[in-house]
Amino acid sequence: MKWLEGVVSVLAGPRAVPGRSTPLGRLLGLRTKYTDSSGYTHFGKRGELPIPGRGAGGGRGGGAFGYLVGGAVVVGGATTYVSHLETIPYTNRRHFVLISPDQERALGSKMYQDLLAQQRKAGKLLPQGHKLTRLVKGIGSKIAKEAEDLSDWGGKVDHMKKLKWEFNLVDSPEVNAFVLPGGKVVVYTGLFGVLKSKEELAMVLAHEIAHTVARHNAEKITQQMTSTVLAALASLALGADFVSTPLILGLQLPYSRQCENEADAIGLQLMARACFAPQNGPKAMSRLSGEGNAMPEFLSTHPHSETRVSNLKKELGKASEVYESKCLLGGFRARFF
Ligand SMILES: [Zn+2]
Repeated sequence: MKWLEGVVSVLAGPRAVPGRSTPLGRLLGLRTKYTDSSGYTHFGKRGELPIPGRGAGGGRGGGAFGYLVGGAVVVGGATTYVSHLETIPYTNRRHFVLISPDQERALGSKMYQDLLAQQRKAGKLLPQGHKLTRLVKGIGSKIAKEAEDLSDWGGKVDHMKKLKWEFNLVDSPEVNAFVLPGGKVVVYTGLFGVLKSKEELAMVLAHEIAHTVARHNAEKITQQMTSTVLAALASLALGADFVSTPLILGLQLPYSRQCENEADAIGLQLMARACFAPQNGPKAMSRLSGEGNAMPEFLSTHPHSETRVSNLKKELGKASEVYESKCLLGGFRARFF
């Protein structure tokens, strides 16, 4: 439950003690505070004796206490924020993440198992031996292997080492694919009606794997935790299990446009490292944003897909260099230059 302590310290100050005025505090039956016309902060209901030894309404002493607590809240919140900032590999963006990779995996695993059971029951889950599943698994595993060691990119990469990648296909006309924490990738067969080559499929899979490299799911869950204050506090108050439905909802939120662009950029580099010609990346993206296609996860920032394609093209130079030195001529350039 250490992660929830983090939530509480961000949302309600460093410790969930009486004296907070947040909705969380009220939910938990904590004392409320108010500020009087002189600008002093008081604890407890108006007219009560909030702090032993002080007059009704608090007075200047209560105000000083309020400032002290308020200051502690700000300092505590800021400390928590800074200590939970992580650097994303390759792009070097700093983002705020409250949950650990282990906790993220627990949430992802629950959602993944539920989803597989549901699709299996509906008769839509393709068997592991199916030729399309094997195709996706072959390409995806190759890219995932490359993503295990990204130490040359800097940033947080240790979470990539313990992953057990799984690839499952759902028989559905939907043009979609997504990844859940822990390396669980789900692909809808509708994709095969749009993509024209293995390399284009590699771009989609690399994009999903890149979301994991960048811990975008953890970022989404964190946003869910901090914006849905009641959900997090309700979990705490009710002693709910860590794997709670409100937090799983965070996984179902669409990624931000920033995350999508980041997954495109990282994905393109990953596919190049795995020796899939990166020129196919923008092609795949452009095809997927074509007319009549649904709004898949990796195009959730639609209708700005043209911008995404042109952003992806800007990353092509670097990716091509990696591809040429590592994969062409049997890695000749990498060995001799
Ligand atoms: Zn995406």
